[in-house]
Formats: sequence, structure tokens, C-alpha cells
Amino acid sequence: MPFQTLGLQLPILQAIQEAGYTEPTPIQAAAIPPIVAGQDVIGIAQTGTGKTAAFTLPILSQLAANPSGEGQRRVTKVLVLAPTRELVAQIEENVAAYAKHLPLRVARIFGGVGEKPQKEALRAGADIVIATPGRLLDLMGQGFGDFRQLKHLVLDEADRMLDMGFLPAIKRVVKALPTVRQTLLFSATLSKEIEELTHAFQRSPKIVQIGRRSNPAETVTQMVYEVPKHLKLNLLSHLLGDETLNMVLVFSRTKHGADKIARKLETTGVKCATLHANRSQNQRLRALADFKSGAVRVLVATDIAARGIDVDGISHVVNFDFPMHAEDYVHRIGRTGRAQAIGDAISFVSEDDHGALRSLERFIGRGLVRKTAEGFDYNGKPMPGPVEREPRYVDPRARRPSGGGGGGRGRGGQGGGGGGGGRSSEGQDRRSGPPRGR
Ligand code: AMP
Repeated sequence: MPFQTLGLQLPILQAIQEAGYTEPTPIQAAAIPPIVAGQDVIGIAQTGTGKTAAFTLPILSQLAANPSGEGQRRVTKVLVLAPTRELVAQIEENVAAYAKHLPLRVARIFGGVGEKPQKEALRAGADIVIATPGRLLDLMGQGFGDFRQLKHLVLDEADRMLDMGFLPAIKRVVKALPTVRQTLLFSATLSKEIEELTHAFQRSPKIVQIGRRSNPAETVTQMVYEVPKHLKLNLLSHLLGDETLNMVLVFSRTKHGADKIARKLETTGVKCATLHANRSQNQRLRALADFKSGAVRVLVATDIAARGIDVDGISHVVNFDFPMHAEDYVHRIGRTGRAQAIGDAISFVSEDDHGALRSLERFIGRGLVRKTAEGFDYNGKPMPGPVEREPRYVDPRARRPSGGGGGGRGRGGQGGGGGGGGRSSEGQDRRSGPPRGR
């Protein structure tokens, strides 16, 4: 089915053609016509299915059909709420691409950076505001943002916004919006909480669901490597010996784990970047840019930071730490095989992960292929790295002059290395200890 049959305005069709899209993805084919017609829609779709364009294109098309009068002050007609700053940035990139033939101004609002430019953008007037709920609420509380003429509200990745505790902020923002509006809600899952949200915010929404919610992207080949915890870094390094792993997204359960993996891989000559909540906004954007451009081969990320990453061409996703929740697995591996591309998802499974693996297999409704890494020394020693031991918290009251076997060297090692001694990277964020100097 061609895009021309979906009721989109000409400037949008032109932008789609320039983006190189030849036909709509299933979620776009299903969601665009009702959205163009002004209906409320609940879209159940994971990232990687083309869902951003599924709501962006028809909203822009409506704006194109009803342009603001010449010389009229810009009023905000569209508000998109999303859980993370990365997602806000990505939605904005999408909007910029699809609205290139429309004279629209977009403001992006998110925490972790200075408020001033965002306030200025709101004061100057923006047709479209894309925001995380917390920062937007802050700015609205200070009198910024004029939503009296708002026509379209989008809640993107609503399930994750609820997981992240944004419900009260969302409710307060929505309370300040006109009640007559189009409301679109996108979520990977349709839980009871999401249903409550749609009852509160939407009018007779049409549900558009693509695939079963537990269905990972069909184009992704999934496999499991069983490996003792203390050899996970060795295995990752071994697998990276294969050059077909050319753009690899590695998931770590913790921020410090992510740093450790990156540092160790760097010692083997593999260029890495990290993406997690301890990194500044600029560092994150830089990491993504370097990954996208190929300047680094491996991006090591935590779940929340990686949420909604929109990078084409990821060849492999590696679950270095097995995800605690089956839904996180689906999201993680949705980073590869995006849209129509093909990708591989590799999961490391250690002693403690078998229960989680079984629940995952139940969740996705099939068993995953177990693989053994050819040529890998399953009896080897943990790979050495820049720092051999994790800095261990030593209660000053209990510290003995001798340092007692191992604490001594680690104290110098900021941020912890330590695949050594059979310890894993998990749980570092929870471990009590002195604050690390970042
Ligand atoms: P999303 O699910 O919105 O994160 O989009 C996933 C990726 O698919 C993005 O890189 C989009 O640029 C791309 N994409 C969206 N729609 C299409 C389409 N109709 N054809 C090809 N690629 C698309």
C-alpha cells in the first residue's frame, strides 16, 4: 500500500519520499488514516516499528491542512510527552525531517540541561512542543508555555512514563490543556494502568495493535550463550573478534557495569562509548553521534538510557546482563532489526539467570537457541583490564593497618574495574560505598 492512499497532505508526502520510505510500516498503515481523520488512537507498538512517524506524519498533515494565518502569533497546537531526553531529541529529529516543507517551529524541553533556552523557546512561541513531563511541568509552573489553543496531545511510550513515575506530572500537565483535542497514546504494552490512562484522557479511542505485545521484531535472530559470570567480558571480547559485529549495542544492568565493560573493551582496542544516567546530556548526545557515525563500534548502555534509541544499522544487540523483565528484553532487542532491517540479539546467561530465561521464553512463547562460542576458552581466566579489583568499601572504623587482602589496590581504582575473582558487574549501583567521584 503506497503512502499516497493514507490521506496525507502533499508537503508530507514529499518529505516521506525524501526520507527514502517506499511504503508505510504496518503501524503506519493502520494508525495514519484514523489520526488524519481526527480520531483518538491507542497505538500498541514497540519502538522499531515506525511508530514515531505513525503519529508525527498525520499530525503534521493536519497542521499543513490548517495553517496559522500569516503574521499571526505562533500558538502551540501540538504537545508530545515522552519519557526520556533521548526520545525527545529523536522525536524532534523525526518532526524536523517530516516537516521540512512546513514553516513550523519546534521546542524541545527536557531536564538535565539549563532552563533558559527552553524558556526562551516557549516564550518565542512554538507550534510543536516535545517534552519530558517533569521539566515541562516545572516550566509551566513558572508561567511558560501557552497551551490554550492546543489541538493534539501525544503520550509516547506511555508505559515507560508510568514506570518512571511520571503519572502525577502527566496528570497535572494534561489538566492544563483544552479538553477538546485529539489525544494519541503509544505504548509497547496495554496494561490495566494504561487502560485507566486512556479512559481519563481519550474519547472513544481506536486501538491499533501491531503483532502480539510480547513479539520481538520478527527480523531479529535471537540466541543465548551460557557462560559463567566471571567470563562474560572474555566472551564479549571473543565475539567481537568477528567483524560482522560491526555496530553493537551492549546492555548492562548498571551504570558502573556499563563503564567497566567499556573500559575493558577499550584495552583490547575496541572503540566504545557509554550511555547511562550518570552521563551529562552532552556526553550522551556525543556517544550516540559517535555510534551513529561509526566512530565507535560498541555502545554500552543501560535500559533507561537506551530507551527509544533510534539508530539505523545496529548489527547486534548483546544482553551482557540478562534483563530482569521480559518486556525489557523485547525493548532491547527491538534496537536491532528496526523497521525492515535484519539483526542479531545475543544474550549471555549465567548461573543466576536461568529462572529469568525460562520466564522470558514463556513470555515470548518460544525457546531460544543455545549456542556455544567456537574457539572460546570456557575454562579461561577472567580477562585482565586497566583496574583489576573493584574498590571495596572499607568501613573506616573496621579498617586494619594491613588492608587485608585486596582492598589496598582497589582504593586507587576510581569507578571499579574488576572482572577479577569471579565477580560480576551486576549490583554495583546498589552496593553501599563511598560516592564515586564523577
Ligand atoms: P520508530 O519505531 O519510530 O523508532 O522508527 C524506527 C525506524 O524506522 C526509524 O529509523 C525510522 O526512520 C524508520 N522508519 C519509519 N517509517 C519507515 C518506513 N515507512 N519505511 C522505512 N523506514 C521507516
